[in-house]
Amino acid sequence: MLQFTRRLPPILLCRCPHCLRGPVFAGLIGMHESCPVCHARYEREQGYFMNSIFVGYLISFVLVIPVILLLVLLGPSPLNFTLGIAAAYAIIAPVTFRYARVVWMHLDEMMDPR
Ligand SMILES: [Zn+2]
Repeated sequence: MLQFTRRLPPILLCRCPHCLRGPVFAGLIGMHESCPVCHARYEREQGYFMNSIFVGYLISFVLVIPVILLLVLLGPSPLNFTLGIAAAYAIIAPVTFRYARVVWMHLDEMMDPR
């Protein structure tokens, strides 16, 4: 737990899971292949980021809960309810993509350090 709290600021700033200083992303969704500071390769093996999909599901669900609650209170038609949730997912997709990968890399680094 202590290790995770130490990693919280680098996770929020999307920093390298190894040195906690180098930026992971070069743009909105474009990633560096390796850390500009410590040169640690981000994709440790082929298919490495497949597990980040599950982290992304969790993050996006948590972020969409307020929209779901709002839609339940407003009581729209089933079509508008679905469109509202789909729009919310589309809007948060870049955030979800970035943090899913960063959180996954930090969890993996904690479980299996380089
Ligand atoms: Zn680094």
